[in-house]
Amino acid sequence: MRRLFSTVLAICAFFSALAQEQLTDQTKAFVTHERGNYLLQNLTLVDGTGGAAKANQDILIVGDKIEKVGPDLPVPKGATAINMEGKSAMPGMVMLHEHLFYPKTTPDANYGVDQMSYSFPRLYLAGGVTSIRTAGSIMPQADLNIKKAIGRGEVPGPKMDVTSPHIDREGVGIFELGAIDSPEGAARAVNHYADMGITSIKVYNFITREDLKAIVAAAHARNMKVTGHICSITYREAADIGIDNLEHGFFSCSDFVKGKQVDICDPFEMRKALLTIPVDSKEVTDLITHLVSKKVALTSTINVFEPYTGREVVPGGGIDALFPNAKEKVYKRWASKQGKDSLDYLAFNKAKVWEKAFYDAGGLLVAGTDPTYDGRIVAGYANRRLLELFVEMGFSIPEAIKICTLHGATYLEQASSIGTLEAGKIADLLIMDNDISKDISAIRSLNIVFKNGIGYDSKKLFKAAEGYVGIR
Ligand SMILES: [Zn+2]
Repeated sequence: MRRLFSTVLAICAFFSALAQEQLTDQTKAFVTHERGNYLLQNLTLVDGTGGAAKANQDILIVGDKIEKVGPDLPVPKGATAINMEGKSAMPGMVMLHEHLFYPKTTPDANYGVDQMSYSFPRLYLAGGVTSIRTAGSIMPQADLNIKKAIGRGEVPGPKMDVTSPHIDREGVGIFELGAIDSPEGAARAVNHYADMGITSIKVYNFITREDLKAIVAAAHARNMKVTGHICSITYREAADIGIDNLEHGFFSCSDFVKGKQVDICDPFEMRKALLTIPVDSKEVTDLITHLVSKKVALTSTINVFEPYTGREVVPGGGIDALFPNAKEKVYKRWASKQGKDSLDYLAFNKAKVWEKAFYDAGGLLVAGTDPTYDGRIVAGYANRRLLELFVEMGFSIPEAIKICTLHGATYLEQASSIGTLEAGKIADLLIMDNDISKDISAIRSLNIVFKNGIGYDSKKLFKAAEGYVGIR
C-alpha cells in the first residue's frame, strides 16, 4: 500500500512538473520538437562521462526523460523515429558563471552593467546551455522572475540556479551593487537573499576573512553553496574557511603576492605576482594540492582572458548579436589590442597549464563564461568558445565536454538527473549537424537543443537576440 501510495505521489509529481510548463506562443515559436516520444537514430555520442565517443547510437526520449541509449534500439509503438546519420549528440551544457548582465555601452568606463533579461536567456539556450548558475546578480528579483517564467514555459531559456548579488565591502565601485560593513551584516545579507528565493551566494574582492566565515556559516545553514571572485582573501585562506568554489581559475588568486597584507586587496600586485611566478613553481603545485584536498571547485572562465591578436572579435562568433553602439566599442578595443597583448598571452598560457594541472590533480574543474569585462564576451557564443578553448588547453574532446556538462551538474548536486546522456536522466541534449567527436568546433553546427524533452531551434534563438545585446 505504501509502495502504491509513493508511486502515485511520484506520478503526480511528474505530471505536475510537466503541467507547470505550459509553453506560450512566444516560446513555441522556437520549438522544433514538442514533448513526445522520439527515437533519435544513428548518432555519434560524446556522452558527458569523459568516456570515448560511440558511433551508431540511438537515444529514446520518452516525455522529458532519456529512456534508453544504445545501438539499434527497436522503435517503440507511438514513438517517432528520426534518422540522424552524420549528426552527433552531447548533453546540454551546465555552466556556472552565466550572468544575465552585460557592460553598459556608455562612452566612458565605470558606469557598471545592464540587465539583459530578453537577449541572454535566449542566447544561453541557443548556445546549448540547458542549466546555468548566474554567479552574481545585479537585479536578483528580475533573475528570479525570469527563472520562474522559463520554468513555466512563458519565455525560452535555460534552467537557473540564481546567485545573490556580489556580497562585498565598499570599494569595487559598481553602481548596481551594495556593500556590507560587518560580518553580521554579511550574514544578514545571506539570509535576506535566501528568503527571496536565491539558491547560491557570491562573494567579491574586498571582504574580510571574518565576513567570509559568517557568510559560509549562514549560507551552509540555508543549504546554499558559496563561490567567490576574491582578492583580499587568498585561495588558501578561503579554502580553509570552507568556501565551496573559486571563480576565474587562478586569475583572482592573491596567494603569490609577496608580503601580502591580510584582508587587503591589491589587484595590481596580484596581477604582477601571477605574471612573475614561474609556471612550474612548487608554490602553485602546493596550492593546487591544498584546494583539491579541501574539495574546493575551481571555475574556469578562461574565455574572458583569451588574447586579441589573431583571435575573433567576439569569441564564438557573435559580433552581430551586439547593438551597434556596443559593436563599435568592442571592435575598437579589439583593433587597438592587435599586436599589443603579449602580457595577455603570457597570463593566458600560464592559466591554461594551471587549470589543467588542477583537473589532473583530481580537482573539480567547472566552466563558466562571465559575460562582462569589455563587452567581448557574449552569452551563448562564449559558451561554445569556452568548450573549444578547453581542447586548446590540452583536454581531450570527451574531457572538455565533461567539464561543461557532468562537472557542472556534480557541483550543483544534480548529477543524478542531468549532465550525461544516460538512461533515466532528464532529456537535456544537443544535436550537432557535424561530428563533435572529431572536431570540437562542431559545437558551432548546433541545430537542436533539447531541454526537458522539448527540442528548440538553436539558430532561430540566436537570430531572435540579434542586435539586442547591450540594450535588453
Ligand atoms: Zn562574473
